[in-house]
Amino acid sequence: MSVTHAPETADALLRQDPELAEILLGELDRQSTSLQLIAAENFCSPAVLAALGSPLANKYAEGYPGARHHGGCEMVDVAERIAVERAKALFGAAHANVQSHSGSSAVLAAYAALLRPGDTVLALGLPYGGHLTHGSPANFSGRWFDFVGYGVDAETGFIDHEQVRTLARTHRPKAIVCGSIAYPRHIDYAFFREVADEVGAYLIADAAHPIGLVAGGAAPSPVPYADVVCATTHKVLRGPRGGMILCGADLAERVDRAVFPFTQGGAQMHTIAAKAVAFGEAATPAFTAYAHQVVANARVLAAALAAEGLVITTGGTDTHLVTADPAPLGVDGRSARGRLAAAGMVLDCCALPHADVRGLRLGTAAVTTQGMGEAEMVKIAVLFAGVLRGEVDSQRAREEVRELVGGFPPYPA
Ligand SMILES: *Cc1c(COP(=O)(O)O)cnc(C)c1O
Repeated sequence: MSVTHAPETADALLRQDPELAEILLGELDRQSTSLQLIAAENFCSPAVLAALGSPLANKYAEGYPGARHHGGCEMVDVAERIAVERAKALFGAAHANVQSHSGSSAVLAAYAALLRPGDTVLALGLPYGGHLTHGSPANFSGRWFDFVGYGVDAETGFIDHEQVRTLARTHRPKAIVCGSIAYPRHIDYAFFREVADEVGAYLIADAAHPIGLVAGGAAPSPVPYADVVCATTHKVLRGPRGGMILCGADLAERVDRAVFPFTQGGAQMHTIAAKAVAFGEAATPAFTAYAHQVVANARVLAAALAAEGLVITTGGTDTHLVTADPAPLGVDGRSARGRLAAAGMVLDCCALPHADVRGLRLGTAAVTTQGMGEAEMVKIAVLFAGVLRGEVDSQRAREEVRELVGGFPPYPA
């Protein structure tokens, strides 16, 4: 199996730097022999990897197609134009900027386009699933803006819409952010638009997680409602690690200038080409089927974990994402993650609404790409609970995981 899926470069690396080549092969082995349940991860295609490992990585291209600060941009200009056109078509957006280096960079640029330092912003509080860029004191967002956090209903775990409305009326924010790292349900973008209009705020949808489901028609789109949509391209969307911004024609110029030159320098043309490849893949019927299977798998996983006694936030999921409290099995989230890791089940801890202890966050994007279906989700849940209850020792569980994933190689040889 090749290291980078671009055979010439893989061979060059093996010959020149076997130490690093070993690490890349080791990581490929880790990904192929353990269970990838981190909700933000996926397996991008060999075609996407090929674009990432291409000589486009050599090219400097500050600026935008047709208006670069460097010569020799003939080919990469075409790549970026294709990426932009595909993104616009895929999401029905008037404008797309595909240069953001990451999801966080996209959010930074969205704030830069719409806000001034010191402005008030209303976003989901970090204890309820807000991202670092939604006002964490450790992040630029919390330092440069005045964030007010809304929460979720203590009983149901669903976003507290009444609180959103009340806080918006009280604080008159310049922008409202909707989007989360852990919220398993659809977001009611029409509701957020209505509140934003009532108080004269911009609406920023941070759709880093669900944007791939949106592309596949398996989740509602924020594009018709939000002034600016920020996203990643590497989560359910299954492209290269990176960010993207969608907006209307009215904000196109402000958004572009906020990305370059305000918050970034040269665009990463290999990544932009890989984004174009991923957008092309996401426009196919196969991806639509994939996105729906991701959700079907998550629903089965949530139900099977609930049957094993875990408490599922909001009682289920609409998306690829499940958050669970393992406390009824006699273990907290942090030690649960450790035990599961020893068994080859890789996932994250997350905050649990209205609880001091950490919970677990799982996602089905990667396992679904591997070809797993509902039957495998039940197997995973049973093994998961067996490990947490201490009924299955980690070595036996590790073997069971190896056997399960062995039937679904992410990169078949
Ligand atoms: C993943 C995520 C981001 C950040 O993406 P990075 O590429 O890690 O910077 C931002 N916002 C939300 C809601 C996310 O889930």
